[in-house]
Amino acid sequence: MSKELYVYPGDRLATIEEFEGKEGTYEDDGIVRASITGKAIYDIKSRTITVIPFSTNVNMPKHGDIVKGLITMATPTMIEMRILYINNNKEEVNLSAIYYSKTKKDTQFRVGDLVRASVTNILNSFIHVTFRNKRLGVIYTRCHLCHGKMVRIDNALKCTECNTRDERKLAEDYGSIENILPIYSVVT
Ligand SMILES: [Zn+2]
Repeated sequence: MSKELYVYPGDRLATIEEFEGKEGTYEDDGIVRASITGKAIYDIKSRTITVIPFSTNVNMPKHGDIVKGLITMATPTMIEMRILYINNNKEEVNLSAIYYSKTKKDTQFRVGDLVRASVTNILNSFIHVTFRNKRLGVIYTRCHLCHGKMVRIDNALKCTECNTRDERKLAEDYGSIENILPIYSVVT
């Protein structure tokens, strides 16, 4: 029996008491971590972990590709998104992208926002994206308080249920139906 997981370099896989790290892993202070991007295979029987690099059929995005997905983490200095589409092609592999911000205004995102971003580069196996374009940013979201519909008012959003206002980095076509349907067919 084995369990599989997509991992990035540095990801914690287990403690050395739990599993022994084989190819594609390294040990750091009692923790087995991934040394490459790939698929971690936990062999429960032999209690070993091997990370197999992504095969060539995994579609890694390239510089300039447009990715759409869900914000999974948002702090004042960085955001992380789960990629659901690469250039309008549905992505089956669980890939994440990150964005580091220099100004506070750049990180006007909340967990759960659906966003469109552009890939800037892949550095140390991390996919980096940018939102610096009027086509890029939040394309759909719900109110974080009541889950109501958020409509655009100038450059902000307002909840139609509880009137909460929220600032976001919005894409110019925020809320248009063709953005929402394909993504919600993946998420729900
Ligand atoms: Zn609300």
